[in-house]
Amino acid sequence: MRVAKDDTVVVISGDDKGKTGKVLKVFPGKHRVIVEGINFIKRHTKPKSRMQPGGLIEKEAPIDVSNVMVQCPRCGEGTRPKRTRLVEGRRVRICNKCNEIVGKA
Ligand SMILES: [Zn+2]
Repeated sequence: MRVAKDDTVVVISGDDKGKTGKVLKVFPGKHRVIVEGINFIKRHTKPKSRMQPGGLIEKEAPIDVSNVMVQCPRCGEGTRPKRTRLVEGRRVRICNKCNEIVGKA
């Protein structure tokens, strides 16, 4: 997976193209991610209890990881980060355009 939890990603296709958000959850086996504020679905729910009255809820649905790119904090571009190891041994992912660290590997 090129994308990890807490990464900021930019959506590159679909209805939310161009939007950015934070990765809330990754599903490595399915190559899908849930991104905060992206791909909202409306779902009707039945009342379960007095505390959960049901009705229309909106929540983020998983999207395919190929539809997002990690957003570089420095150049702001969507990037397919490269994995590398820093001199002190830390493994990181870096922007393939400006070499800024975008997250841990
Ligand atoms: Zn960059």
